[in-house]
Amino acid sequence: MQYPEPIAKLIEGFMKLPGIGPKTASRLAFFVLDMKEDDVLDFAKALVNAKRNLTYCSVCHNITDTDPCRICEDKHRDDSMVCVVQEAKDVIAMEKMKEYRGHYHVLHGAISPMDGIGPEDVKIPELLKRLQDDTIQEVIIATNPTIEGEATAMYISRLVKPTGIKVTRIAHGLPVGGDLEYADEVTLSRAIEGRREL
Ligand SMILES: [Zn+2]
Repeated sequence: MQYPEPIAKLIEGFMKLPGIGPKTASRLAFFVLDMKEDDVLDFAKALVNAKRNLTYCSVCHNITDTDPCRICEDKHRDDSMVCVVQEAKDVIAMEKMKEYRGHYHVLHGAISPMDGIGPEDVKIPELLKRLQDDTIQEVIIATNPTIEGEATAMYISRLVKPTGIKVTRIAHGLPVGGDLEYADEVTLSRAIEGRREL
């Protein structure tokens, strides 16, 4: 049996999300049909607002509703440190820890030659440009402890070290193969304490 057009469209929409197959998509679509109309409207508005009102910070490339973002604009933060992460959600994980007061740089991915992703495809050239004005004294690399994350860390370290800027890598406590965003605050806190020079 064919689904009526509106629900077929809804299923199609859910299937565009990561990790959602046809079964889950139709379960979600039927759930939406049972939701209160106000809740559905709020959800739809939230989707559109997030897309329309968020942009990327032109300095750190984090998601933001102001440019530069609030972290880049914050005068109380330590200008001498920049923490390099793969994704915007990793900044949120780091901020939850409340111990790091430096700045960030979001790469939007990691180098992965197998997938054809090179240094130019992530925000590495933008990072190198930021390092040119002599403000930043330390680059803390907090890419994920995966093959791609490690390769990215090594690549950045090789380029930055000759400039005399200190390069450190967060190390202890993070599970191998894990994602930074899933680490608890204690684990992350240990990881940043135990960062080492590359
Ligand atoms: Zn920013």
